[in-house]
Amino acid sequence: MCGIFGIESHSDAANLTYLGLYALQHRGQESAGLASWDGRQMRVERGMGEVREIFPPRVLTALQGERAIGHTRYSTAGRSMIADAQPVVVMTAMGPLAIVHNGNLANAMDLRHRLEQEGSIFQTSSDTEVILHLMAKNPREDVVDSLMLALSQIRGAYSLLLLTRDAVIAARDPWGFRPLIEGELTSEGAGLGQNRSSAACFASETCALDLLGARKVGELQPGEVVVAREGNVERRKLRNVAEAQASRCAFEHVYFARPDSEIFGDPVSEVRTEMGRVLAREQPVEADLVSPVPDSGLFPALGFADQSGIPFEMGLIRNHYVGRTFIQPKQEIRDFGVRVKLNPVRRLIEGQRVVLVDDSIVRGTTSRKIVRMVREAGAREVHLRISSPPTQWPCHYGIDTPRRKELIAAQKDVDEICAYVEADSLGYMTVDGMLSCLSGPPESYCTACWSGGYRVPVSAAGAKQGNLFPILTEAKS
Ligand code: AMP
Repeated sequence: MCGIFGIESHSDAANLTYLGLYALQHRGQESAGLASWDGRQMRVERGMGEVREIFPPRVLTALQGERAIGHTRYSTAGRSMIADAQPVVVMTAMGPLAIVHNGNLANAMDLRHRLEQEGSIFQTSSDTEVILHLMAKNPREDVVDSLMLALSQIRGAYSLLLLTRDAVIAARDPWGFRPLIEGELTSEGAGLGQNRSSAACFASETCALDLLGARKVGELQPGEVVVAREGNVERRKLRNVAEAQASRCAFEHVYFARPDSEIFGDPVSEVRTEMGRVLAREQPVEADLVSPVPDSGLFPALGFADQSGIPFEMGLIRNHYVGRTFIQPKQEIRDFGVRVKLNPVRRLIEGQRVVLVDDSIVRGTTSRKIVRMVREAGAREVHLRISSPPTQWPCHYGIDTPRRKELIAAQKDVDEICAYVEADSLGYMTVDGMLSCLSGPPESYCTACWSGGYRVPVSAAGAKQGNLFPILTEAKS
């Protein structure tokens, strides 16, 4: 997962991109970066950690120019290190190019091996670099033609932004796995430079547009390429879109997107609340209170309480100064993180039959600790309800899920998982129930992590290595 933001034709491009990245911080906290074109050269700043750590005012001042793109990274392909932080910047016959990318390319391994045979030298272990190499090998007078040619060879998930000498180009893969929103900043939003009435901007989620006061123009369509060049916007379509089946990632709605965003045309908060209602119908239970596992369980717990009539209580309090536990790459840190992150409200829980609502179980380690914690706080019964189906298959399109053998639902059935997490009962949602909460046709969503139905085949090499390119290790990492 990653967050991307870009803006074209704005005198404060870097500052606004920085703000956009703040709104997209939840999509990745491993590294962040920003590139701007100042009229003569590409300026870039990238660093490990969160947005607030990487861009002090003097750095932002140096990132001059009227167009910029930025990225928050959560590594799914490649490793967690500075060389893989985005934007990736290269020099080509078409001038310098900077790219930011959200998603996973299913055939990146094969393409990379072929390019290496042909002499390409890669600088990073990230799949994104493949796109730049394909472009550099096929320069065109109009850089958009070169990008479209490169993308015609790529299969898999990408929502990307390319910064060139005269444009910001946005592209979404023909399957539409990941979201990408186009916005417009007018003089009523953040201050515009002289002689400009509006600036085009692009973001992974609408919450970034809200922050800037930008108007949502719309979601890029699957296979759409939007070129923002010196104040004008041009739209093109990738040719292979005709063969692709719409495959919007339903997990964006379950977990990843911010609840105040609108994804694939649906408000995330409402979808999540509805998931809670459906869950309560599918997996009813007698209890005294419903408590979310904050934050991702909040809206489904509201829906569950609404549907079941069981009172909603905040039985667990989250410490917001700890990052998402799951994102920490080391097991010991992850374990520690759960305890540091959540604390039960003993007075609410003591002697009660508690329904805990969470969005998903991946390895099961978090749920087990939380159930135990709630029981130790005095709960009489702990019933766990999950507002998504069992996660049984790894994602090859951009969500960081572990390999299959680490997914508890791939190894155990529901009763066995219930015993493992030590709950009195456990209930998941059905895939159909979940899809009924989304406004699009059910077949237009990717449900591979629950059903194993991968719409875009992953190359054997990529699947085996989890799309990890086996190179580059930093001495200090
Ligand atoms: P686990 O302990 O592995 O079962 O982790 C489950 C928790 O991780 C749930 O509370 C989810 O909110 C969260 N989660 C699910 N998927 C992801 C993901 N791809 N990245 C980070 N956190 C996740």
